[in-house]
Amino acid sequence: MNKACKIYVAGHTGLVGSAIVKRLSLDGCNNIVTRTIAQLDLRDQKAVNQFFECEQPEFVFLAAARVGGILANTMYRADFMYDNVAIQLNVVHACYVYGVKKLLFFGSSCIYPRDCPQPICETYLMSGPLEITNEPYAIAKIAGVALCRSYREQYNSSFISCMPTNLYGTHDTFCQLNGHVIPSLIAIFFDAIYRQSKSVVLWGTGKPLREFLYVDDLAQAASFLMDQYDSPEPINVGSGQEISIRDLAGLIKEITGYNGEIVFDCVKPDGSPRKLLDSSKINALGWSAKTALRDGLQHVVDWYKVHCVETGHMQIDSGHIKDKVIMG
Ligand code: GDP
Repeated sequence: MNKACKIYVAGHTGLVGSAIVKRLSLDGCNNIVTRTIAQLDLRDQKAVNQFFECEQPEFVFLAAARVGGILANTMYRADFMYDNVAIQLNVVHACYVYGVKKLLFFGSSCIYPRDCPQPICETYLMSGPLEITNEPYAIAKIAGVALCRSYREQYNSSFISCMPTNLYGTHDTFCQLNGHVIPSLIAIFFDAIYRQSKSVVLWGTGKPLREFLYVDDLAQAASFLMDQYDSPEPINVGSGQEISIRDLAGLIKEITGYNGEIVFDCVKPDGSPRKLLDSSKINALGWSAKTALRDGLQHVVDWYKVHCVETGHMQIDSGHIKDKVIMG
């Protein structure tokens, strides 16, 4: 992939896609193609084919997906399955038909079995039952990995899959009902500061362990893999930085400056007890995460202050679980 190549970043308005566009631009790539969902609905096969025929991208980062936190995944099970499978079928097939040189598909650490040994190696894929809260999303992502592998096997397509661990960064969904844990907690603590609440209620027991990767590190890994990796096997992208939800809450509370109490609502789901990826394969190739969790969180909190708190765009009290679709 050189700087003049035409690169399509699908999902450029989302957490992952926006970080990839930023990374590629910093690297000097000046022929990046994007579309919003209003311009191109990736669930529409005809529209996808027309787009590929017209634009003829040479490299594709497939970061478009229906995404959400533990509650949205539980509530919108059919939509998470349908939309993600549809996006993947249309984009992967178009990449084959229109001769894309290389495709990078983003899976997720939730595709691994719920109770598999930790840290999780790539070979544990499909070795046991999945976590129930996000099973439809996970099955859709497993289908994406299988699609890439199948086109490679049958048509010799250079399609690869990576499995990022739990991500965080700017341009995320900062809202408890729809977001993942880090953006939810940032929004919750700022809302509590604003309302002068004495306590905040978080979900589950606080005991689950999660590994977190700063999205700019993932973007760098994605660009690295596009250049360096060409194998049918998926490859994990993690940071090795693991923390309990209780300790994470304490850290974000400190960084935001909230000084009330944290209460855990144990009726809400915990999800997987632990999801720590074994990233030795990508580490051996020469990539490793750079951003310490505290530094990354500080950066996101500072960004949220400027873009949402000071502009009056805090989203915490929407009261609705909405589906978030990043499809363009
Ligand atoms: P997961 O990694 O797929 O389980 O997705 P999440 O990022 O949504 O949740 C991670 C963990 O954080 C789970 O154990 C949740 O129960 C816990 N958690 C605690 N409070 C919150 C919250 O306000 N929002 C979310 N999304 N998760 C929370």
